Amino acid sequence: MLKKEIKNLRDEINKHNYNYYVMDNPTISDYEYDALFARLKEIEAEHPELVTLDSPTQRVGSVSTGFEEYKHKYRLYSLDNTYNDDELRRWYERVQKECPEKVELVCELKIDGLAIALTYNNGYFQTGVTRGDGIIGENITQNLKTIKAIPLKLFKECDVEVRGEIYMPKTSFEKLNEESKNKGEKIFANPRNAAAGSLRQLDSSITAKRDLSMFTYTAIIENGDYLPKTHWDSIQYIKELGFKTNPNIKLVDDIEGAIQFCKEWENKRFELDYATDGVVIKVNRLDYQNELGFTSRAPKWATAFKFPPEEMTTKLLDIELGVGKTGAVTPVAILEPVNLAGSIVSRASLHNFDEIERLDVRIGDKVLIKKAAEIIPKVIKVVETDEHNDLPKYVAPKTCPECGSPLEVRDGEVNLYCANENCSSVAKAKLEYWVSKEAMDIDFIGPSVISQLYSLNLAKKPLDLYKLTFDDFMKLDLVKEKSANNMYNSIQQSKSKPLTRFLTALSIRHVGKETADLIVSEFPTLEQLKNVSLEKLAKIEGVGEKIARNVYDYFHEPENIKMIAEFESLGFKFENNNQNKTTELAGKTFVLTGTLETMTRDEAGDKIKLRGGKTSSSVSKNTSYVVAGANPGSKLDKAQNLGVIILSETEFLDLIGENK
Ligand code: NAD
Repeated sequence: MLKKEIKNLRDEINKHNYNYYVMDNPTISDYEYDALFARLKEIEAEHPELVTLDSPTQRVGSVSTGFEEYKHKYRLYSLDNTYNDDELRRWYERVQKECPEKVELVCELKIDGLAIALTYNNGYFQTGVTRGDGIIGENITQNLKTIKAIPLKLFKECDVEVRGEIYMPKTSFEKLNEESKNKGEKIFANPRNAAAGSLRQLDSSITAKRDLSMFTYTAIIENGDYLPKTHWDSIQYIKELGFKTNPNIKLVDDIEGAIQFCKEWENKRFELDYATDGVVIKVNRLDYQNELGFTSRAPKWATAFKFPPEEMTTKLLDIELGVGKTGAVTPVAILEPVNLAGSIVSRASLHNFDEIERLDVRIGDKVLIKKAAEIIPKVIKVVETDEHNDLPKYVAPKTCPECGSPLEVRDGEVNLYCANENCSSVAKAKLEYWVSKEAMDIDFIGPSVISQLYSLNLAKKPLDLYKLTFDDFMKLDLVKEKSANNMYNSIQQSKSKPLTRFLTALSIRHVGKETADLIVSEFPTLEQLKNVSLEKLAKIEGVGEKIARNVYDYFHEPENIKMIAEFESLGFKFENNNQNKTTELAGKTFVLTGTLETMTRDEAGDKIKLRGGKTSSSVSKNTSYVVAGANPGSKLDKAQNLGVIILSETEFLDLIGENK
């Protein structure tokens, strides 16, 4: 029985090792792979007599073919994993028992890339080799020379071997996949596979075109001017040699400090432009590291804490169709619920029907899904199974799931559209968008209120919202006086919101919040918007001819002219709003992070724009101020690193003269 389970596990793990290390094309998530591996380790620990030398638990990684083999001078190991606080504490206890004094730890992000070893003689780059099985790797020196983060000559003339992780930034990975998709070439499942695939190209000119970088995390100094005594000091030395190291590193007193670091990065990791699947915790003192030594595959002086998985496989139960405010019909995957990055997921995006065809995803398939914070999970690929071929191919709909009108294809677009102007799904989506945070930001009105207002014939279009009375709201399910009042007031108050929100809320094609901001900063009154020429609109930086045409046509369509006149007669007063606009923050760029107490980040953004300033979603050396609320993200760290001025909410209010 047990022997059979062991054999099955080993066969299964070997198959996945081949897909992952040789083909750069895994078919299960790392989490599921780690679970198989952990099970095999568990059985082998209970029955040491069943351990064989060729068991995957006794080895590290695997070697692929195509490159010259290279025997490492110093062996490269893997890392043992931990998944929760208790396991971390137990690991620390084992470590502490072996060491005479209190053990300090260094916490580093575990970069999800490809391990390599680089050797330098007299400060000159000699060879670069993949980890392979830890004893023998592949010599990929030529390809590594194309990576700018790898110095060809160090700042010091020493003999040293360094190790680090080659990775591809997430944005470059997405761009590469987008280009490959257009050319019908191989799509990579994740940035790690893309980095591995790019690095193991036999033609290094291909590698050179890929955006690869490296974080260095270990140095073995053979002959240099200095011998560090701690891991922390060796990282500083690595920087002095000219290597790039990861800035998110911390020296802590004990395991509780490390646990805190892990917690902090569990969510913050999604803000980084590179993939990290955990935290590596290392004993700081190098003499203690030597004492502790290694098991057959991993150091005892380090452990990898793994974050909850970002990727999982699950079953596709159904494909639901949604109709958006533009009439675009989009497919949504309905999934057997799985735990992804710490929450239960049962729906994922399938983007559009072209994507379904490209993936050849069929209802009943096993699929790999992925989640990043704030972005809805998406289906990345179909897991190859015997059942797949027996399932019927998915056929895109011909008619609107809501109103039954024929769907149409628009020039140069991948979506299918419902062209029925009176389709109730489109109308409801437009109303929902109107009240949303991004558009008019009307509190107390959400999708269920919209749905009721629509079905009771009280509001069919945004204009109707402003004609609703207190009594109308009292007709809704479970609505009492207080909330009816709130809803009524909230809608009426939105009449004095800035023009840019109104322009966004109109749902003109391709005019979202950012574009509306650009247009309104040039033409700040509704009068100007109604009369501006097509040429002038197209000249706005970041707008362009296509969007200019959409805006121009919108404001010249008779029905829209009538509707906007009605909005004006209802008391919308943008003019005043924009006349108030000043230039006191002109030329200043703000980045907002964390939760503010007295306003939302959107409201703070409005205040900045009203004073002629700009907002941006990322920190750079051009950022003038970062306004940090409670629980700020990694933007705050970046601002500190770049020396950007950081303001608290109170300081921000002081700056704009609103601190009462
Ligand atoms: P690992 O990736 O879990 O951990 C060891 C590696 O971590 C080291 O070799 C090093 O390259 C890397 N690392 C990153 N940042 C580091 C840092 N700051 N300090 C030190 N090391 C750092 O182990 P592994 O042996 O490389 O491979 C196992 C991994 O590959 C697991 O995540 C496993 O799930 C995945 N895998 C997945 C499949 C699949 O089919 N999905 C198949 C095989 C392996």
